[in-house]
Amino acid sequence: MTDFLVFCEVADGRVKGSARELLGKARELSGGGTVAAVLIGSGLADVGSELGALGADTVFKVDHSSCAAYIPGAFAAALSQVVKAQSPDVVLGSASMLGKDLFPRAAALVDAGVGADVVDLVETDAGLEGVRPLFAGKCLASVSVTSEPKFFTVRPNSFVIDGATPGSGNVVDFAAGLDNDFGYEVIDVERGADDKVELTEARCIIAAGRSIKSAENFAIFDEAAGLMGAAVGASRAAVDAGYAPHGMQVGQTGKTVNPSLYIACGISGAIQHLAGMRTSKVIVAVNKDPDAPIFQHATYGIVGDLFEVVPALTNELRTTLAD
Ligand SMILES: Cc1cc2nc3c(=O)[nH]c(=O)nc-3n(C[C@H](O)[C@H](O)[C@H](O)COP(=O)(O)OP(=O)(O)OC[C@H]3O[C@@H](n4cnc5c(N)ncnc54)[C@H](O)[C@@H]3O)c2cc1C
Repeated sequence: MTDFLVFCEVADGRVKGSARELLGKARELSGGGTVAAVLIGSGLADVGSELGALGADTVFKVDHSSCAAYIPGAFAAALSQVVKAQSPDVVLGSASMLGKDLFPRAAALVDAGVGADVVDLVETDAGLEGVRPLFAGKCLASVSVTSEPKFFTVRPNSFVIDGATPGSGNVVDFAAGLDNDFGYEVIDVERGADDKVELTEARCIIAAGRSIKSAENFAIFDEAAGLMGAAVGASRAAVDAGYAPHGMQVGQTGKTVNPSLYIACGISGAIQHLAGMRTSKVIVAVNKDPDAPIFQHATYGIVGDLFEVVPALTNELRTTLAD
């Protein structure tokens, strides 16, 4: 039996979608142990009631004014206090920007280790181990964490959970001691220009490279992305050319994504781009050059001009979805 504590991120007054896969996987691996969720924020009264249906037996809420925005010290103190009080065997969170920052801090406060950015969790004779891509996804390493508890951050979209096993979903307010000065003050949060699907959590991504030729040409993806519920990404060459903001960059110096479907349009397939999208479940490459390296990694390849292929794809989607 393994007891899990799952940190579920809250953004814009709702629990992020990654909670579903983390709670579902925790339930699957718990072997009859408990699965608890922890929410940290401010004004959480209406948040988290759905987590019982996703597998949580208990939902701990740390609702404190110090956590109105992400203050690393405050969140780490809050999470570590819940960990100390509950003594779980495993603490899980998403390998999001926030999770990657928070987990090492919280783990350090309870003298524990972190298996970072894993894409699978497997039960072995030595206990739970993580599986982590290394060298731009060229190999997979098993990651053992020998501390108690073990912390793991999981790359979004690593697990497919069909039909979650519900837990009892008791909601408990957790009074964390957070009255210190954490050394940061959030003055303002400025959002990026678009309110579309977040790249790192997206189940479907359509991305363009340098060959898109202008920022305006990204509009050719709008309808297809809307129909598929996809996020739009870019190669670094497209970003460096000023066609897309850095927030859209996929790769070694951009975001790491893990969607079910990645459609790379006019992207050559450089190792630094692959580093950010290689674990995608299905890769579709559209490229004029039949020898482009991306085709060696693609599940499906289309040799053609993206300015012809994308509109044709959009038409097909429109027709199919209308039927
Ligand atoms: C330290 C370092 C970090 C890096 N980090 C990143 C990173 O995070 N992300 C990243 O992406 N890159 C990164 N790079 C850059 C990387 O090496 C490549 O230069 C970059 O990925 C190339 O982008 P691209 O495929 O868009 O452009 P190109 O290499 O110029 O390829 C364009 C492709 O489009 C095809 N094409 C042209 N016109 C059309 C058309 N009309 N229709 C269809 N296909 C067409 C061409 O055949 C070609 O294959 C990094 C490099 C370094 C050194």
